[in-house]
Amino acid sequence: MKKITIAIDGFSSCGKSTMAKDLAHDIGYIYIDSGAMYRAVTLYALEHGIFKGEDMDAEKLREEMDDIRISFRLNPETGRPDTYLNGVNVEARIRSMEVSARVSPIATLDFVRKAMVAQQQAMGKDKGIVMDGRDIGTTVFPDAELKIFVTASPEIRAKRRYDELKAKGEDASLDEILDNVKQRDYIDQHRATSPLRQAPDAILLDNSHLTIAQQKKWLKEQYLRTCERLAASAQEETA
Ligand code: C5P
Repeated sequence: MKKITIAIDGFSSCGKSTMAKDLAHDIGYIYIDSGAMYRAVTLYALEHGIFKGEDMDAEKLREEMDDIRISFRLNPETGRPDTYLNGVNVEARIRSMEVSARVSPIATLDFVRKAMVAQQQAMGKDKGIVMDGRDIGTTVFPDAELKIFVTASPEIRAKRRYDELKAKGEDASLDEILDNVKQRDYIDQHRATSPLRQAPDAILLDNSHLTIAQQKKWLKEQYLRTCERLAASAQEETA
């Protein structure tokens, strides 16, 4: 079957990554978590003196952008890709609250977005990719054959994130997480470059009241339906 491009966008902590990863694994596609790339840049910034209190030295980051190399390698234990920053596995560190609190301002920077989008487009040039993020269907792969836009209420998303951190044994406050979720939503939707919005041809999924299993099943159905639609139109063209 001809490989396609699958773009999954939406709000933070919507379970996009979980369903995207599983679909990719199921159908033998590459999976890329584009949020992990912005998180890795943020971790670099935190570790290289880019933040001074509440301020951010964007010029210093711009000068150092070429020194930031992000890659993904399959973790045989989890069967999922881990994020590497300059050759070091940073998968756990990029998920901390400290990174979550700083990532959206970093993701508003034009030069950061340009660098990330170029890398993401290179990763998807041969299709057969599932990528999740905020601007995948609108900016990175505007021609993706299947686009999904996922949403859920901020309270439900914060609770999911809280449960996730607690399960990892991390200290977490539900109020702090809810504030972070709302703040990131606002910054992501209002930034000048590639704001978070639903592409006109994206299918909307509100998963507030869906289990992970239901969500995965729904996504697989959308994929199969898209393949059928494309096969039917290819047949029409040759007829
Ligand atoms: O997906 P995740 O919540 O890990 O993404 C972290 C942050 O990275 C988002 O809140 C958003 O600010 C930024 N991001 C983005 N564009 C993407 C993916 C993530 O701006 N394609």
